[in-house]
Amino acid sequence: MNIVIIGAGYVGLVTGACLAEIGNTVTCYDIDNRKIANLNKGIVPIYEPGLDDLIESNVSNQRLSFSNSLESSIDDSHPEIIFIAVGTPSDDEGFAEIKYVLDAARSIGRLIKYDCTIVDKSTVPVGVADTVKKIIQDKLDARSINLEFDVVSNPEFLREGAAIKDFMSPDRVIIGVSDLKSKEVMLKLYSKIESEIFCMAVKDAEMTKYAANAMLATKISFINEIALISEKLGVDIENVKRGIAADYRIGKHFINPGCGYGGSCFPKDVKALIKIAEDNAVDPKVLHSVEDRNNLQKHVLPNKVVDLLGGDLTDSTIAVWGLAFKPETDDLREASSLVLLEQLLSRNALVRAYDPVASEAAKGFFPEKWFKTNRLHFMDNKYTALEQSDVLVLVTEWGEFAKPDFKQMHQLMRKPYIIDGRNHFDSKAAKDAGFGYYGIGIT
Ligand code: NAD
Repeated sequence: MNIVIIGAGYVGLVTGACLAEIGNTVTCYDIDNRKIANLNKGIVPIYEPGLDDLIESNVSNQRLSFSNSLESSIDDSHPEIIFIAVGTPSDDEGFAEIKYVLDAARSIGRLIKYDCTIVDKSTVPVGVADTVKKIIQDKLDARSINLEFDVVSNPEFLREGAAIKDFMSPDRVIIGVSDLKSKEVMLKLYSKIESEIFCMAVKDAEMTKYAANAMLATKISFINEIALISEKLGVDIENVKRGIAADYRIGKHFINPGCGYGGSCFPKDVKALIKIAEDNAVDPKVLHSVEDRNNLQKHVLPNKVVDLLGGDLTDSTIAVWGLAFKPETDDLREASSLVLLEQLLSRNALVRAYDPVASEAAKGFFPEKWFKTNRLHFMDNKYTALEQSDVLVLVTEWGEFAKPDFKQMHQLMRKPYIIDGRNHFDSKAAKDAGFGYYGIGIT
């Protein structure tokens, strides 16, 4: 099938590369000219394991290309499917900002010349597919063109860091569709992907995405709250976790205590669902609590530093391992590291941070003054980050941090303290090496 994808971000690029890999001819279009120029030079703008190779091989066999012109993307390929995969960040009030989706719809309405299926992959509030359909129809009417098209909701559930595996073998594919012909197009598109497929009404599909993310965020905030209570009582949350995970109704996934969820999805989608509920006269008490707990949880690490070293951190050096919101990505959107660093630096600490891939991306997230005044340093190596530091704070559970050389670490640091924001280290090994070890919900 010929496919055009609007938006070459985390979702658009992975979708494009994977759909090309299973035999389709895909053009990825983005308004960001620099991004497209880089992609055309073979420079992939994000870190996602396996994505560079997948893009390179599909570009070389001419199944994947990149363009900064939607007009030529559509004119040259006569797509049967056009995906919308643009961002839907929070607006100032917490609503999902759908203007990029609507811009894409207007462009589609201006440019299509043949029947096609429009597929919304962006996460959008219930009813946006209908709005997209109306916008396109109005543009076609203004052009006095009569085309058959439909707007399908096909929300994406991939996880950054495991995006290719998640796209190629997903737990499920959700297709919200109202028209038999579009349903057949979508079933054909997904025929080479092994997965359970759920076809449902368009609105049901739009809501499924929000419900899934809100459920996952709820699990995280719940276990974080239990961890806080456990810590006060001298209870080991890791034992509690094992105990509850054995109950099949609870399960072992997504009940890891930590320093809060981040990323481009959970925070904004929980916020958006709260607004959707309130707009419809529902008081979303659970969702409010999920969000509140998460906002507080991001302060647990800086609070632990203050408990150890005092409120004014002048003359203190803090080593930070991990900046990305999760391992295997360079994405820092809403990452817990942002709150930690802001708190430490505003208390006059010197920070030496190390992340295996996210340091470059991280530079754009912090004020220039912290680099200029030599208060914030991004280090090339996890051990050099520790030199003369008073405490190590682990924020992101990268695999390379799991079994460090605690003896070497002890020699490098000025004071032997570890605050483990993901319960990632072997606490006994750390304590045996002479560290004061503080996890989440562990005493
Ligand atoms: P992103 O910010 O990485 O990428 C969005 C891209 O869209 C950018 O490159 C931007 O330049 C481009 N864009 C914006 N307006 C455009 C327009 N009018 N025409 C062409 N390009 C345009 O976003 P993302 O993380 O890929 O997320 C995209 C959507 O998918 C969001 O709705 C998000 O909630 C959802 N989603 C994201 C993930 C994830 O893990 N990142 C997972 C599932 C769903």
